[in-house]
Amino acid sequence: MANKSTTTATKPAPKKDKEIVRDYFNSTGFDRWRRIYGEGDVNRVQRDIRIGHQQTVDYVLGWFKNDKNAADQTVCDAGCGTGSLSIPLANMGAKVYASDISEKMVGEGKERATDPENPVFEVKDLASLSGEYDTVICLDVLIHYPDADSEAMIAHLASLAKSRLILSFAPKNPYYILMKKVGDMVPGPSKATRAYLHKESDVRRVLKSLGFTIKRKEFTATSFYFSRLLEAVRN
Ligand code: SAH
Repeated sequence: MANKSTTTATKPAPKKDKEIVRDYFNSTGFDRWRRIYGEGDVNRVQRDIRIGHQQTVDYVLGWFKNDKNAADQTVCDAGCGTGSLSIPLANMGAKVYASDISEKMVGEGKERATDPENPVFEVKDLASLSGEYDTVICLDVLIHYPDADSEAMIAHLASLAKSRLILSFAPKNPYYILMKKVGDMVPGPSKATRAYLHKESDVRRVLKSLGFTIKRKEFTATSFYFSRLLEAVRN
């Protein structure tokens, strides 16, 4: 018979946002986002999100094209997903280090890549990334984290950036707070992670305190996707 004192069940600790996010992007989230970030048939909402997200990616690629310096740069794409940005950026000549907390997303990115050596894909939580890169990019990741965590994440990403940090996030303003409330009330299979909105003024304050200045910015809004994109350069 089992000794009671050794089998007493202790309640598992509540899952942290990070674990929830990682598990989601290795399971139902992987299936959902792999399709949204792909080319096959998707439903109307997913198509809308696909178009919005592609716009954000295209803005970043456009900045590199304008600057005509992709080939001289090392890029860290933190939370790279399936490589939607990393792969075209590598094909433009940048040396890209693409990482993501989800091994499934990274696996998909590797499959989609045309050059097996660039991007270099790695399964990694962005908090444990190290090294120095000309440009550090983090697109549509902060939506999974509350302000308190996001600040530390931005500070860490900034510490890896030699000259600039490109970030996107879902902006918090009265209109989007309302939209999110409505969205949260609609039942659906996609609500496995919470979506956190961030005040643009808070993100700017953090970047400023880290010694960065905003050089370019964009905004994408479709019916179901909205994302503020900031390019912050080191002073
Ligand atoms: N940046 C990509 C993917 C956005 S989806 C693009 O724009 O195409 C959000 C991604 O962030 C998911 O792939 C998820 O696994 C990843 N992610 C979430 N939290 C992370 C963390 N702490 N560290 C690294 N990646 C993370």
